[in-house]
Amino acid sequence: MIVGVVGGGQLARMMIPPAVALGVELRVLAETKGMSANLAAARVGDYRDAETVLEFASEVDVLTFDHEHVPQAVLRKLEGKGIAVRPGSGALQFAQDKLLMRERLAELGVPIPDWEAVAEPAELDRFISSHGGTAVVKTARGGYDGKGVRVVSSSVEVEDWFAFLAEDGHGGHLLVEEFVDFRREIAQSVARRPSGQVLSWPVVESLQKDGVCAEVIAPAPHQSPRLSEVSAEIAVEIAEGLGVVGVLAVEMFETLDERVLVNELAMRPHNSGHWSIEGSTTSQFEQHLRAILDLPLGPTGIRCPWTVMVNVFGGSTERTLDESYRAVMEDYSLAKLHNYGKEPRPGRKVGHVTVCGDNLEDAAFEARAAADALSR
Ligand code: ADP
Repeated sequence: MIVGVVGGGQLARMMIPPAVALGVELRVLAETKGMSANLAAARVGDYRDAETVLEFASEVDVLTFDHEHVPQAVLRKLEGKGIAVRPGSGALQFAQDKLLMRERLAELGVPIPDWEAVAEPAELDRFISSHGGTAVVKTARGGYDGKGVRVVSSSVEVEDWFAFLAEDGHGGHLLVEEFVDFRREIAQSVARRPSGQVLSWPVVESLQKDGVCAEVIAPAPHQSPRLSEVSAEIAVEIAEGLGVVGVLAVEMFETLDERVLVNELAMRPHNSGHWSIEGSTTSQFEQHLRAILDLPLGPTGIRCPWTVMVNVFGGSTERTLDESYRAVMEDYSLAKLHNYGKEPRPGRKVGHVTVCGDNLEDAAFEARAAADALSR
């Protein structure tokens, strides 16, 4: 079996070890040379160009993704040629456009923050004043790691976005949402096969810094009795309702009054699921491959009481990775290191570390210290 992955980032990179183990050939269409998934990069080319992707996909059994940016027109063309695109265009559109996603989740009756599509500043100001003077504005498309998200108290703060939409001439809308005063952010991953089998991992807590995931604790500590049941039910409902094939990660808010509201969807392995490489019997990367190939899914239970995953950002370009990694291996021997093979730049996610253990405080201390040493 040959799996083609569009995009050469760290998610494609982390699919390589389970592909090798399962005896699946993985071929990556990378954006440029020398990317994270270089080892499996069969082609370099533009994922927005239908001919390039079509040519790449014609030699694989199943096509999947490292990111959600392949245009709908390209996806539909592939499907028109009979290529197995997983997840398909019909599901992926909801991960590509936050307004479409909100509309669909509302139709499914999934709990989400109060929201509206606004085309004009006056509409936005009305929403803000009817929601306590603060709201969260998002661009429907193109945002990632919080880059298309602003907390505002007036439409003036997103004047540039309205101007851009007007220039665009498409009569586009911005998404505005109530500002959720959440207790914490949690994430629920599930995997679904085309034939319908769905399995969920334990719900995790995800800590964000500046709109970017910094740390994940699995399972989410201090759970109310119903939390894991409710979050799994919601994620399964979305996977089935949207017809997702592969891994679906659902980012959610747990509110102070113990409700769960869905924020974001990712239809691929996700940063909030990296813990599963060491912490679960089946990692999200292996499960994604199993799911898109319609193979039986693996068990998703935990392998130790606590797993803590901490991202590594930046790091020194002065010092070679080898030196810093050698020191961390010596000082924090329980930390499992994941180097994405990227050139470190300030704020750039270049790896992560994972520590499993019986004691949450100890595991968190070790993981944070190791990631911190690699980030310096
Ligand atoms: P992106 O797709 O760029 O990651 P998200 O929609 O996930 O953007 O938002 C990024 C972060 O902004 C979230 O992780 C959360 O911390 C914060 N955020 C987003 N929506 C809301 C909201 N409605 N209320 C409060 N905080 C929010």
